[in-house]
Amino acid sequence: MLGFKFLGNTPVPHRKNTAATPSVKMPSAAEVLIPLGGQLGAPSTPIVKAGEEVKVGQRIAEPSGYVSSAVHSSVSGKVLKVEPYLCPNGTTVQAIRIQSDGEMTPHESIAPPEITDLESLIEAVRNSGIVGLGGAGFPTAVKLDALKKGEIHTVVVNAAECEPYITADTRTMLERIDSVKEGVLLFKKYAGTVTRVVFGIESNKKDAIEALKATVGDIEGVEICVLPAKYPQGAEKIIIHNTTRIVVPEGKLPADVGVIVINVNTLATIADYVRTGMPLVEKTFTVDGGAISAPMNVTAPVGTHIGDVLAFVGCDTEKVGKVLYGGPMMGVPVSSLDEPVMKTTNALTVMTREESIKGDATPCIHCGRCVAACPMGLNPTAFSKALEIESKEDKIARLEEYKINLCMECGCCSFVCPALRPLVQNNRLAKGVVREYRAHMKDMK
Ligand code: SF4
Ligand code: SF4
Repeated sequence: MLGFKFLGNTPVPHRKNTAATPSVKMPSAAEVLIPLGGQLGAPSTPIVKAGEEVKVGQRIAEPSGYVSSAVHSSVSGKVLKVEPYLCPNGTTVQAIRIQSDGEMTPHESIAPPEITDLESLIEAVRNSGIVGLGGAGFPTAVKLDALKKGEIHTVVVNAAECEPYITADTRTMLERIDSVKEGVLLFKKYAGTVTRVVFGIESNKKDAIEALKATVGDIEGVEICVLPAKYPQGAEKIIIHNTTRIVVPEGKLPADVGVIVINVNTLATIADYVRTGMPLVEKTFTVDGGAISAPMNVTAPVGTHIGDVLAFVGCDTEKVGKVLYGGPMMGVPVSSLDEPVMKTTNALTVMTREESIKGDATPCIHCGRCVAACPMGLNPTAFSKALEIESKEDKIARLEEYKINLCMECGCCSFVCPALRPLVQNNRLAKGVVREYRAHMKDMK
């Protein structure tokens, strides 16, 4: 019999500088800019106009389709403008600019939802505007809809938090462990087919592991699976495999094998909404990196400008070379300090000018390190070569043959490459080329 092997083996540095430091709440800034998209799913449709007064938790945008989410005001004040906004993922959506009155007055509609069954729980989550808080931002209600079919037997709670610097989930487990427990009990009560709730957490989070054991460890059906602290332990298919040994086949979703994965912060936020009725209007995220002398976790209203966050943590912006939304492995660059904190922001990695200067790529020396590092068993150099093929059809055929769609853009290949080849960037490009081509072919039919 073959032995079980953990997937994911890249020893990136942990740098969890803020794991033991309580998060700090930031006061409302003078203005917020709330994007109506930028995460997975269709952008939302604004329902307020310039000049309107709004309060905290008031709905300001409706979902525009099934895979879309409601958006709520994160401050009280006046809508200044509804304007186009270029998201970090390259799409342009609407955004609502609100001048805060500094009062943070909650909207009159805020009240705990009435939950009587699975249907009403999912509807509540839909109304809360909660999206996956681990980074991708898929609307949580849409994910939970899979429970209605009665085929989900396992919920994997993703508490791995494997990227360097980021400790927002760790602080959630230490500061909001009762909310984590309430979230588990909601699943136990309303998702009748779920027999296992498995927490996947890396071994370097000892305090959080103890908190989980003490609070949810005795609940029937709950397992706490301590995983090696190896990147990318928190990637969806990896954590499913490493906690349950279930393999999600290529082209399938976790729900197809009876599993849903929910980030631990998302789980706690669902419980908070059910208890208070306050939608997702603030976010806790880690601010760290070479340009930050006092790293910390900050809780700020969604839409707070990054420049205001950096001023709050005492960062000298003269030293800043680059800011990433997210961690150094999967983060995407922020184009200006006017960019806002998004629902999905779990970290701001703030690099010095020296750190952000990357050396020039040199030719591949065929060392094979990128292949060895890939947790999905892919060959990143083959994707780069395929991208150079001139004929579109041949290029697509080759990329698909090499399984480009299995690439989860974890960045392990780029991290280990001694020639500094832009492998993950090429993979993103290649995935975009395949996606566009397939969409075009569909339209032609
Ligand atoms: S970015 Fe893609 S190809 Fe590179 S290591 Fe990660 S999964 Fe493999
Ligand atoms: S790690 Fe870099 S140098 Fe080595 S085979 Fe991969 S692309 Fe080439």
